Amino acid sequence: MEYFAGIDAGSTYVKVAVLTEEGELAGFQHRPTGIDAAGTSRRLLETIMNDLGGSTETIRSIMATGYSRRIIDVAHDTITEVRAHAAGALLTAPPQANIRTVIDIGGQDSKVIVLGEDGDTQNFVMNDKCAAGTGRFLESLARVLELKVSDLGPLSLQSIAPATINSTCVVFAESEVISLVARKKPARDIVAGIHEALAKRIGAMARKARFEPGVLLTGGGGLNPGIVQALEDELMIDIHLPLHPQLNGAIGAARIAGTQA
Ligand code: ADP
Repeated sequence: MEYFAGIDAGSTYVKVAVLTEEGELAGFQHRPTGIDAAGTSRRLLETIMNDLGGSTETIRSIMATGYSRRIIDVAHDTITEVRAHAAGALLTAPPQANIRTVIDIGGQDSKVIVLGEDGDTQNFVMNDKCAAGTGRFLESLARVLELKVSDLGPLSLQSIAPATINSTCVVFAESEVISLVARKKPARDIVAGIHEALAKRIGAMARKARFEPGVLLTGGGGLNPGIVQALEDELMIDIHLPLHPQLNGAIGAARIAGTQA
């Protein structure tokens, strides 16, 4: 059996996916990036290959992508995140979804990638300057509310009266959240307001990129059902999710490793 690996060394999490030569997902792992993205990547790859009864040396080709891709010494080559996400979408999207736009919400940046009919990248818009359109926004505000990021989605879905968060800067949004808590606004409504604020920013990016319906949500943001609903309301379309949203870049990188080998 031949294997191909993709490593998405993100600002927040390292994601590793191993594919067979047929493009089947054979194994995957993820872990917070920490201060040693290269070491984290190596260890995750070793864990997957041990489980598969092989070793890292037997992988035919290893492709790195993501914020720290250039320091991943175990990788044979690197590709941009846009290419990785576009390739991942072709492999991971639900059948018949006809994906034309990938929205990736990561820890430190967000991207909207518009695909042509044959899956090539036609246009993309990226936000890496401002935390307010990224997973970092959610992490900071979850901390203020003493919640885990994984609690945000299920909680916000219970809201029928979302709070209004006006600030477009994460620091001022934190002050707004503290003031809402002091006024005894329920956490579910505050979190729903936070999701709406994030969805507005992503919605503006999507419109700037001239998004096409057939939208796939990837990245850690895709693990949050509150974000999915807020984006559906903001863009007024259904959002599709891959089986493993956070792994999409790693899967795409592994796929390109396979097609280039
Ligand atoms: P990066 O590639 O920049 O490291 P990811 O695509 O891994 O980022 O996404 C990280 C973001 O995903 C976090 O900032 C957080 O908002 C969100 N996230 C991570 N795990 C979960 C989870 N279990 N539930 C909901 N959201 C999550």
